[in-house]
Amino acid sequence: MSEHKNPFFVPYDTPHDTVPFDRIRLEDYEEAFMEGIRRDNEQIEKTINNPERPTFDNTILNKDDDEDYYGLLDRVSTVFFNLISAETNDEMDALAQKMQPILTQHANDVRLNPRLFERIRQVHLHHRRLTPEEKKLLDNTYEGFVRSGALLDEAGKERLRQLTEEASMLSLQFSQNLLKENKAYTMHITDKAQLDGLPDTAIEAAALAAKESDKEGWLFTLDYPSYSPFMTYSTQRELRKQMYMARNTVCTHDNTENNLEICKRLVNLRREIAQLLGYKTYADYVLKRRMASNTRNVYKLLNDLIDAYKPTAVKERKELKQTLPEMKGRGHTPGKKHAAPSLQEGQEEGLQPWDTAFYTHKLQMKKYNLDAEMLRPYFELSKVISGVFGLANRLYGITFKENKDIPVYHPDVKAYEVFDKDGSYLAVFYADFHPRKGKQGGAWMTEYQGQWIDRKGENVRPHVSVVMNLTKPTEDKPALLTLGEVETFLHEFGHSLHGMFANTRFESLSGTNVLWDFVELPSQFMENFAIEKEFLRTFAFHYETGEPLPDELIRRIVRSRNFMAATACLRQVSFGLLDMAYYTKKEPFEDDIMAFEKQAWKKAILGKQLKDTCMTVQFSHIMAGGYAAGYYSYKWAEVLDADAFSVFKRHGIFDQKTAQSFRDNILSKGGTEHPMTLYKRFRGGEPTIDALLKRNGIKRETTKA
Ligand SMILES: [Zn+2]
Repeated sequence: MSEHKNPFFVPYDTPHDTVPFDRIRLEDYEEAFMEGIRRDNEQIEKTINNPERPTFDNTILNKDDDEDYYGLLDRVSTVFFNLISAETNDEMDALAQKMQPILTQHANDVRLNPRLFERIRQVHLHHRRLTPEEKKLLDNTYEGFVRSGALLDEAGKERLRQLTEEASMLSLQFSQNLLKENKAYTMHITDKAQLDGLPDTAIEAAALAAKESDKEGWLFTLDYPSYSPFMTYSTQRELRKQMYMARNTVCTHDNTENNLEICKRLVNLRREIAQLLGYKTYADYVLKRRMASNTRNVYKLLNDLIDAYKPTAVKERKELKQTLPEMKGRGHTPGKKHAAPSLQEGQEEGLQPWDTAFYTHKLQMKKYNLDAEMLRPYFELSKVISGVFGLANRLYGITFKENKDIPVYHPDVKAYEVFDKDGSYLAVFYADFHPRKGKQGGAWMTEYQGQWIDRKGENVRPHVSVVMNLTKPTEDKPALLTLGEVETFLHEFGHSLHGMFANTRFESLSGTNVLWDFVELPSQFMENFAIEKEFLRTFAFHYETGEPLPDELIRRIVRSRNFMAATACLRQVSFGLLDMAYYTKKEPFEDDIMAFEKQAWKKAILGKQLKDTCMTVQFSHIMAGGYAAGYYSYKWAEVLDADAFSVFKRHGIFDQKTAQSFRDNILSKGGTEHPMTLYKRFRGGEPTIDALLKRNGIKRETTKA
């Protein structure tokens, strides 16, 4: 028996130096983490004790002088944390719990090391003859330290630490309260008649939930998979109202799970953090490191969208109201039949918030008669894979070849070698398609190795991975996807192209390492292809008959795309307005949250606002998540992807010249320059909302003089 060597300490000795998953043992991680931290510290000591004058090479680039030795911590962290999401178990999770505080502590020790920062500051002040890419790396490094408080005096640093700690503690409490309140509510139904309208899957799930809590009948909860079908299908208006009010008043009650004061405090803490670091508002602090750059640009986007979409949203609402039954005994047109049940005495008239999902679904079925299930037979996974790879081949000339010699972390994972159009090796591409135990929900793209050019001038090519939870094959059927799942694949594949085409000198500026509101451009861009007939024609064939997806069905898909698009847009914009209202505050926030909210998003709200409901207390994105002063970026990215795709629409969706320009100017450049600079080089100008309006079928109303 040969002695086990920790694979992180020796050359991988695999095809393209891919991770030797088959040789890693659990205990190898911790050993490599601890040794990696030790080598990191050793290197920092070497840097700060260097008697030479600080230079870009001896201070910023230090890591590169012995990558195999000093890169250990990066190497082990990448593998470990990728697997924590894609293929974990109790031992791995326990180790993550143990390592997390040690790694955070280490990161803080580096960021707050005054002697290290002083050298970086010197280089930042006195550097000469740097290439633009070197300058960018230097600026990013310097700003990273400054944004962590490196320029503050001791008291300031201590204050920043307190504020940050309190904010992270309150974020956690916010989430815990929300979870508790959401779990506390159930709707218990024992009368079968009250299940009217609900699909079997929802009823079965509710029966199971009841059984699990030793109850008769059916139990509905505020969890999305229970709540959403209830609001969409239940014909019981009074029950819908109960559910709606329960969900939209969580964390406002006078109890320990109240989030109102927590939100106030969080808004104030973030303002204080920003002001301590020299910014007027938290939004100013955040947007400094975003493509949008400043609050003016964000508000311009939000206001332009309101102006453009509001008239259509008003029409959509009118159409929706027409599907509503009239009140009993009032203005009933004789002979007119309504599919929907009539209102009962004593109920609120008109379209109420608890009616929206219900009537929207009714209207949608009436107009398009399109159900996600109808498309599955045309989207067999193996065909979708060839469709997506074929698309990349038509656009960029690249090819994919499965290589079974590349180690994988689970037998379901496929590994491909990717070759450029001249036949040279470009990247390794892992694909992990289906759900399983130990894998997180959702879909994402990640890397096991980034791209960079090493000291010897060798271009180290990336190893990218897409991880998804697509429908699994069954005993008698192959994996048949929905159109939504095809889009998910295209989305993650778009991120992976950003990684695979990367061609920059430094890893931290490479591939998807771009400003946060730019990262979704390459991914959302690819989603555009999903409803293009020319593309569907290349792979969407019935898995049994081989018949192509019928034209008539494609037409209905395209038409139904924009159903209620303006309403959906205004909803996103209203959240963006609310987010910005909190984080553009210059003064301490003393307002009443519920009143403030209603005022903040008024411009984008069409229906009447209910007095007791509140969004802020459950708006995790901006209170507990990373979207504070960043919610606008959903719409920002949509504007970009529609605008970029319009160039392809003009020259043909498979146009190789346009694709080459997209690759050269955007996909290969990573974060080496400001995204707006990159984008303008591809587009010839700044993006406008026009292409998005066109895609959504919105005609701008001409302003009356
Ligand atoms: Zn994405």
